[in-house]
Amino acid sequence: MSIASKKVDSLPPYLFAKFQEKKEELQAKGVDVIDLGIGAPDLPTPNFVIDALIEEAKKSENHRYSPYDGCSEFKEAVATFYKNYYDVTLDPETEVLTLIGSKEGLAHLMQAVLDSGDQVLLPDPGYPVYSTAVHLAEAKYYPLPLERANGYVPCYDEIPDEVIEQAKLMLLNYPGNPTAATVDSAVFEQAISFAKENNLMIAHDSAYNLVTFDGYKAPSILQVPGAKNYAVEFGSLSKSFNMTGWRIGYVVGNKDVIKALSVLKSNLDSSQFLAIQKAAATALTSDLSTVQEHNAVFEKRRDILVKALRKIHIDVDSPKGTIFVWAKVPGHFTSLSFANLLLEKAGIIVTPGSAFGPTGEGYVRIALTVSVEKFAEVTRRLEKLHIEEAFN
Ligand SMILES: *Cc1c(COP(=O)(O)O)cnc(C)c1O
Repeated sequence: MSIASKKVDSLPPYLFAKFQEKKEELQAKGVDVIDLGIGAPDLPTPNFVIDALIEEAKKSENHRYSPYDGCSEFKEAVATFYKNYYDVTLDPETEVLTLIGSKEGLAHLMQAVLDSGDQVLLPDPGYPVYSTAVHLAEAKYYPLPLERANGYVPCYDEIPDEVIEQAKLMLLNYPGNPTAATVDSAVFEQAISFAKENNLMIAHDSAYNLVTFDGYKAPSILQVPGAKNYAVEFGSLSKSFNMTGWRIGYVVGNKDVIKALSVLKSNLDSSQFLAIQKAAATALTSDLSTVQEHNAVFEKRRDILVKALRKIHIDVDSPKGTIFVWAKVPGHFTSLSFANLLLEKAGIIVTPGSAFGPTGEGYVRIALTVSVEKFAEVTRRLEKLHIEEAFN
């Protein structure tokens, strides 16, 4: 008998474990494996944030428990960032909540607002945490197919009426993981209208809000007039400031959702280390020049990769945001068989699109998380594959 609960036992297996195993096998044989499966930035946290952490860590008042909802310095910094960057006004007391990374907040959101049997609309393909958290909350979800032909935006008219009637919550994510899709504010206006008509709440995951290229600026769903009645937005310092290990994020917007999540969280955790929250406040209220510098690095890598893929006739859009390229697999391949081919014949790890939901089949996600020198090597290896033959 397994000690794990049925809920935990029935969680989907960790898909990347198999690739990891193969990676180690190849490395043991001396192959220089290039891992483009990792969804975390490889660049360091900016020095000014580290310096702020060192200063704050020295102060004994920062060694105590944080207030459950997070400290005022961080929540005010989030509100200041929203005012300056989006021209959205937030009350730091009731409309901002500190999270121990946005993954934590997104996962607990499901427990905070769903009862068993409730319905949630989830992007397909989407960040796997959404569906596992819905499963752990004993709720159910309806996948919203995100098709390239529709710009990876859900078709609301195609959702069955009975699903819409039961739906309490909808998740959206732009710039998107894994599709790297970006949208303009009209997409959020349409989403808010849909929520209003059907009396449901939207949680927008904006983990890549600042990771954008070509002069594109990603909008906030809270810029839509009246959005606070229907939406919360999750944000993180992980991707924009290369702070994945620090575990610091936030949720903003609808008071009632934030209240429910904060009540749940106050029973489970005691927020993040005060020194980390205060250092993160420095990052959010900075001039964002380090974000620009990092984006320039990702943009350069993107250009090399997109050029290399197109040269071997792989159909790909050049993304305006995130740290991923979402590429259609060539010829007769499936997501998995193409990912396997790249690993076995080129020593390159990518993530099969099917790992993010059924509509991800036919694509692979390639992360921009190695140096330009490595991407030059990726280019050489892709050319040597003679993938064009797959089209015959
Ligand atoms: C990385 C990521 C997150 C989680 O970020 P943390 O704040 O580090 O927990 C959330 N959503 C998406 C889509 C991500 O890619």
